[in-house]
Amino acid sequence: MQNKFDFIIIGSGIVGSLLARELSRYEVSVLVVEKEIDVGMCPSSANSAIIHAGYDPKPGTLKARMNAEGNKLWHEIAPELCIQFKETGSYVAAIGPEELPDLNRLYEQGIKNSIPGINIINRDEMLNREPLINPAVSGALWAPSAAVIDPFGAVLAAAENAVVNGVKYIFETKFLDFILENNAIIGVKTGKGDFYCDWAINSAGLYSDEVAHKAGVRKDFEIMPRKGSYMVFDAAKFSINNVLFQVPTEKGKGVLVSTTTHGNVMIGPDSQASENKDDSATTREGLQMIELAAKKLIPSIDVKNSIVMYSGVRAAGNGNKDFIIEIPKEVKGLVNLLGIDSPGFVSAPAIAKRVMELLKEAGVKFIDKKTFSPVRKPSPHFHLMSYKEKAELVKKNPAYGRIVCRCEEVTEGEILDAIHSPIPARTYDSIKRRTWLGTGRCQGAFDYPRVIQILAKELGISEPEVTKKGRGSELVFRKTKEVIHE
Ligand SMILES: Cc1cc2nc3c(=O)[nH]c(=O)nc-3n(C[C@H](O)[C@H](O)[C@H](O)COP(=O)(O)OP(=O)(O)OC[C@H]3O[C@@H](n4cnc5c(N)ncnc54)[C@H](O)[C@@H]3O)c2cc1C
Repeated sequence: MQNKFDFIIIGSGIVGSLLARELSRYEVSVLVVEKEIDVGMCPSSANSAIIHAGYDPKPGTLKARMNAEGNKLWHEIAPELCIQFKETGSYVAAIGPEELPDLNRLYEQGIKNSIPGINIINRDEMLNREPLINPAVSGALWAPSAAVIDPFGAVLAAAENAVVNGVKYIFETKFLDFILENNAIIGVKTGKGDFYCDWAINSAGLYSDEVAHKAGVRKDFEIMPRKGSYMVFDAAKFSINNVLFQVPTEKGKGVLVSTTTHGNVMIGPDSQASENKDDSATTREGLQMIELAAKKLIPSIDVKNSIVMYSGVRAAGNGNKDFIIEIPKEVKGLVNLLGIDSPGFVSAPAIAKRVMELLKEAGVKFIDKKTFSPVRKPSPHFHLMSYKEKAELVKKNPAYGRIVCRCEEVTEGEILDAIHSPIPARTYDSIKRRTWLGTGRCQGAFDYPRVIQILAKELGISEPEVTKKGRGSELVFRKTKEVIHE
């Protein structure tokens, strides 16, 4: 049967993509169905981008185990897949003497979770390492294994590596229902027809509860969406090289002030209950709250220098709030990944390994694929190259000599690479996420028209058909100087 696969993965966030890559190590056929037009649209690309050290989750939980294991795995995977990854470490800064005892509690928790290298540093040492920090700082928990990552770049890298190793992806394809036979899943119904499989893997993030319910399992489980907003600052106006957390409360890790892999500073997130899983609009109250909270860590922050604001939605589960990674007994052929909220990104590689263990325990036999390559060679990033490397590249292909985005120095050659990559970019935002075009001070004002032209030509569509992020987000309606025949 042409549309029959050994595994169908529902959702191409970081978990689905790393799992696809993990499965591609073996002689199995894998299909990933994704409702959006690209991989990792949200929340896998709209989060704090921290590879947490792992002192925060409650000892003994799956979150604690997956976080600690995932952190170690990212240090191997990031270089293998050429993902932008900065080994910054992180600080939890106690502001005022009253917060100091909390650091001991976090330290003890970190020791129980086997987090390497953590220690408490005093006020002078913290001020020395981050001169802009609030002078009322009384000490900090230093966690050297924390890091920052390019979250979309990581999802893309995992997905591209999976595709190169034989996985098939289909986009704009919404999972609708399971096809069941004698209480076993034998396939999925989607907006683009039926696909058959031996195993379906539910990694649908915010919608994982609804997917599980379609299989008749976990009927009491519900995703309780919580929105978190961010502000990103102009790198020329404000820069720090650290990751600074506040002392966490029962509500969560609080607002952080953090460097990013691209050298900007980011502040956020807040935590607001949301009615709608797809509502990622920022609100005035949310942004004011993160400004105030971030100023507790770095009083000199000036929001006039922020260049972009965005939100991500956490897929927190009801109940005990731990991750659920299971093969439910009630139905055959299903793997459920539920409640994968923070620290889901850092945990994703460990979650993928755990799923493989569960499948093996369930009797699936995996044969190594001799042609599997774990390494991904990324397309060139012009602005990261030396003058000599740039000159050589332009000599080989003059498209790399045509700058399209002036702020971030992104070339036509990089845009063409993105459009013709293993996971092809088909929208403005897909190119933006891959190349960082349009993320500088002008936020795309200069590059939009040129990118629309290139996308139209390469995809063989008209310019008004080019979209920002899929159907309904068309960027232009018609040419301003064309003759209109009414
Ligand atoms: C504000 C915020 C801050 C965070 N900060 C951090 C952090 O610093 N560190 C960290 O480790 N974690 C962090 N997280 C958590 C982390 O981002 C998530 O745990 C992780 O991205 C979850 O990945 P996922 O693949 O499970 O889900 P998702 O990224 O949600 O992917 C699920 C995919 O399934 C697709 N899908 C859904 N329904 C269907 C359907 N019916 N048919 C087909 N496809 C479907 C979706 O389109 C999506 O692409 C944060 C999250 C948020 C929101």
